[in-house]
Amino acid sequence: MNITKITKVLIANRGEITLRIIRSCKEMDIKTVAIFSEADRLAPHVRAADEAICVGAPPSSESYLRGDRIIEAAKTTGAQAIHPGYGFLSENADFARKVKAAGLIFIAPSPEAIEVMGSKLAAKNAVSEYDIPMVPGINHAVEDIAEAKKEAAQIGYPILVKASAGGGGKGMRVVEKEEEFEEQMKRAVSEAVSAFGDGAVFIEKYIGSPRHIEIQILGDMHGNILHLFERECSIQRRHQKVVEEAPSAVVDEKMRQAMGKAAVNVAKACNYYGAGTVEFIVDENLNFYFLEMNTRLQVEHPITEQITGIDLVKEQIKIAEGRELSFKQEDLKINGHAIEVRVYAEDPANGFLPNIGKVVEYNTPKSIGVRVDDGFEQGMEVPIFYDSMIAKLITFGANREEAMDRMIRAIDEYKIAGIQTTLPFCKFVMKHDAFRSGNFSTKFVENHFKPEYLEVETSKEEEEIAVTIVSQLLENGNKKSMVVGGDTKNGSNGMSDWRKKRSVF
Ligand code: ADP
Ligand code: ADP
Ligand code: MG
Repeated sequence: MNITKITKVLIANRGEITLRIIRSCKEMDIKTVAIFSEADRLAPHVRAADEAICVGAPPSSESYLRGDRIIEAAKTTGAQAIHPGYGFLSENADFARKVKAAGLIFIAPSPEAIEVMGSKLAAKNAVSEYDIPMVPGINHAVEDIAEAKKEAAQIGYPILVKASAGGGGKGMRVVEKEEEFEEQMKRAVSEAVSAFGDGAVFIEKYIGSPRHIEIQILGDMHGNILHLFERECSIQRRHQKVVEEAPSAVVDEKMRQAMGKAAVNVAKACNYYGAGTVEFIVDENLNFYFLEMNTRLQVEHPITEQITGIDLVKEQIKIAEGRELSFKQEDLKINGHAIEVRVYAEDPANGFLPNIGKVVEYNTPKSIGVRVDDGFEQGMEVPIFYDSMIAKLITFGANREEAMDRMIRAIDEYKIAGIQTTLPFCKFVMKHDAFRSGNFSTKFVENHFKPEYLEVETSKEEEEIAVTIVSQLLENGNKKSMVVGGDTKNGSNGMSDWRKKRSVF
């Protein structure tokens, strides 16, 4: 196979992941092209790249999802390859084909693998010959409600109605009993249609208090597929991850080997090359079941990088160049422990609702064992058009305890004012006995968290604003209730309506 040296890459994304990819490119002496929407004109990812091209108006559908303009931008700038990051077009097989047809390299798996794994149903069928444990359920789309009810009764309630095209925790509905089936199914279908343009749903047994454990995969175009151990991502809200760690507190060497082997087999089922993640759900007896495969770099990939010492973006690029993996399974070792928390512009004290506004103070933690992957800086507005994750905070320690203690220290050092974030919630997690002991599940928020448990911290700036307002009010003799700073704890700043309506992708 010929090796094509990549010298210029266009990154078809925004925010932290674009900066992350640019950094690896710089280390490999590869030139970079950023794209941006009109809302991101001044964003750090635009300045960090060697060149940048505006691809359209703020809504993603008019910019970051405009495959045609992105391919044109690559051609105009002479980029040979496109890296899609995660989200947006990263799992779009049609886009992958168009990139190839335009004579460009897509730093991703083959369009066929993206297609099969992009559909949870097609994925289940594809791996059916490989002896992979699956969640009990039906492996075809639900069309006839009466028929589906029969099947659900056989599986046994509670069940989960799931969008085949789903992602990011969307298009999923728990059904506790038969009477609710029809209504919940309709909701899942309409959510799936609006989020993914595909209303196909299927049924899975709803596992009571599961853990989410996934395996990182790397495969080259020469048929070598390796796994880079597990990540546990059980701390979630709305079926989406907020805290991830590697390795998992409950996986022993035997289980790791078994899960690794299953994951490699899933990848073999679609002749996989590139980086990918095979997700499993694990029940209380530590039986694991295949959930889905994500055919892209994952949000939480840094924790795998920390414990293995492997730069996953560089590996993706080398694989796309046609090179063979330069290491074997037995060369890989787990070193220490890493934890990542996602910093979402959300208010954990108010149902984790998006909390968007201007970031008036932004100071990141520093020093030993701390990594911040962000795309943000002081004075910026969090745009309403995109996913509300503004940064990822990663800590690394000799063992789990050190990584957790370091995370608490780093969260204390992280100063963000003007918006609410998930950081106070993540600190609560780091201090909680259930998390510290390793005895937790995806039900953590439901079982252990109440907004009133959060330690409320106000920044100096907010305190100063509050003091000024109070003294002015006292001077005016006005004792009406007031709003402190740019935002309030309970979201009563008139933003809640459009917050709910904002588009996610
Ligand atoms: P992970 O990388 O661990 O899978 P998430 O499930 O939170 O993390 O999704 C990662 C990102 O990709 C988020 O920005 C999410 O909004 C987006 N995303 C996930 N699945 C899809 C999908 N099927 N279509 C579009 N965007 C998606
Ligand atoms: P997505 O494509 O949205 O990431 P997944 O199938 O990966 O969808 O599931 C996301 C999360 O939803 C899992 O991490 C888990 O918390 C929950 N989940 C999914 N399937 C089940 C199930 N059968 N039983 C219980 N929880 C589930
Ligand atoms: Mg998933």
